[in-house]
Amino acid sequence: MKICAKGHCTGCGLCKEVCPVSAISMERDRFGFVVPVVDENKCIKCGLCSKKCIAEGYERDNKADRVLAASLKDTSELKKVSSGGAFWAIAKSFIKEGGVVYGAVAKDIYTVKHMRAETIGEAEHMRRSKYLQSDITECYKQAKDDLEKGKRVLFSGTPCQIAALYSFAGENDGLFTCEIVCHGVPSALVYEKYIKELEEKNNSKVVDIVFRNKDYGWGKNHYEITFDNGERILEPSVENAFHSSYLAGMISRQSCNECRFVNLPRTADIVLADYWQYKGELLEKSEGLGVSLLVCTTDKGNLLVEKAEEYLYLEDSILDEALRSCRHLSHTPGKSIYREMFLEDIANRTFASTWKRYMSNGNKPADICNKIIRRLGYEKKRRTDKTD
Ligand SMILES: Cc1cc2nc3c(=O)[nH]c(=O)nc-3n(C[C@H](O)[C@H](O)[C@H](O)COP(=O)(O)OP(=O)(O)OC[C@H]3O[C@@H](n4cnc5c(N)ncnc54)[C@H](O)[C@@H]3O)c2cc1C
Ligand code: SF4
Ligand code: SF4
Ligand code: SF4
Repeated sequence: MKICAKGHCTGCGLCKEVCPVSAISMERDRFGFVVPVVDENKCIKCGLCSKKCIAEGYERDNKADRVLAASLKDTSELKKVSSGGAFWAIAKSFIKEGGVVYGAVAKDIYTVKHMRAETIGEAEHMRRSKYLQSDITECYKQAKDDLEKGKRVLFSGTPCQIAALYSFAGENDGLFTCEIVCHGVPSALVYEKYIKELEEKNNSKVVDIVFRNKDYGWGKNHYEITFDNGERILEPSVENAFHSSYLAGMISRQSCNECRFVNLPRTADIVLADYWQYKGELLEKSEGLGVSLLVCTTDKGNLLVEKAEEYLYLEDSILDEALRSCRHLSHTPGKSIYREMFLEDIANRTFASTWKRYMSNGNKPADICNKIIRRLGYEKKRRTDKTD
C-alpha cells in the first residue's frame, strides 16, 4: 500500500491516526526520518490514509491580510522565547479566555512532542524553537475531542502539521491555528550521533540544550549545550556543527527540500517568523531581544492579535517587506547538492568526520563555490545570514 509519492511524506503521522484497523506504524528510515510503514496483513485497502494524506499540500480559503512586527512588552520574557514572542502573547491571552493550546515541547534532549496545555504554566514549555521534528500524533484526537466538547483550541506547529490537523479535524469555529515559518526538520539520526560524540569528547552526558540562546542578543543566536559535569558550550548557532549542517541544507527531510506549504496565503490563521530585516522602533523597545513577523491570513488571525495586544508592542508592516526579510515565507528551504552524500556517509562514519568532509573551512560547498567564483574573477557579495 503506497500512501503518497516517494520523498513527499512529511512524517506528520496523520495516516496512522486515521487507519481504521491500526495497520500503520511510524518508523525511522535509514536516514533517521519517521515514515509510515503499512502492515499488509492488516490493511483492508480502504484508501483512507491516502485520501487524508497532506503530502501534496493543503488549501484553505485564506489570504495574507495584515502584516505586523511584534515584540513582547516584558523584556525578561523575551529572553525565554526564540524570536519576538508573538506565540507566547497569543497563547497566554488564549488560555486566559478559557481556551486550550497545543504546541511543541522538548521532553528530553532527544525528543520533541506536541502537548496540550490548559494553564499558562503548562504552555511555558512550548516556548522556544526546538530544531527537531516534533511528534504530533497523540494530539490529533485530543484536539478534535476538545473541539467536539465545545472548547476553543489554539494549535501551533510547522505548516505541514497545521495542514494535517485541518485534514483530520476539519474547519471548526473553535479552531485557531498558528504556524511557524519553517526551514525544515533535521534527521534525528544525525542529531543523535552529534550529541553522542559530544558526550564522548566531553566525558559527560548532555543534560540540556537551548537552540537559540539570546545572551548576546537575538541577531547573534547561540547554541547552549550543558553537560552533567557542569560544563557549558555556548557558540554562535551558525558555527555550531549540527546547526550549520542544517542551515546548509545537508540534513533536512526530503519533503522539506520541496516543501509544499510555503505558498502564500499559507495554511494557518497566523504565520510567525523572525523579522530579521526589520528596522523600526521595536528594535529599541525590545532591547535587541527579538522582533516577530506576523502575517494574519483570516479574521481569526486578526482576532488572535487583537486579544494578544496587551502583551505586545505592535507595528503594522507591509507584505513586500515581509517577503524581502523572510525567504522561507514564500520559498522552500532547498537542499545542498551534497545532502544525499552527507546522509549516506553519516551511516558509516562519525558525525565529526562527515561534517569535516562536507562543512569544514575550505571543504564546505559555499567555500568551494567562492573559490570558483574568485578563480573566475568575480567578487562574491557578502550576505548577512541569520540563523532561522
Ligand atoms: C524547525 C524550525 C524551523 C524554523 N525555521 C525558520 C525560518 O526558516 N525562518 C524564520 O524566520 N524562523 C524560523 N523558525 C523560528 C520560528 O520562526 C520562531 O520559532 C517563530 O517565529 C516563533 O517565535 P516566537 O518568539 O513567537 O515563539 P517561540 O517561543 O520562540 O516558539 C514557540 C513556538 O514554536 C513552536 N515550535 C517550537 N519548536 C517546534 C518544532 N520542533 N515543531 C513545531 N513547532 C515548534 C511551538 O509550538 C510554539 O508555537 C523555525 C523554528 C523551528 C522550530
Ligand atoms: S505525509 Fe503524513 S499522512 Fe501522508 S504518508 Fe506521510 S505521515 Fe502519512
Ligand atoms: S488503506 Fe485503509 S486499512 Fe490500509 S493502511 Fe490505509 S487506512 Fe489502513
Ligand atoms: S519545511 Fe515544509 S515539509 Fe518540512 S517540516 Fe517545514 S512545513 Fe513541513
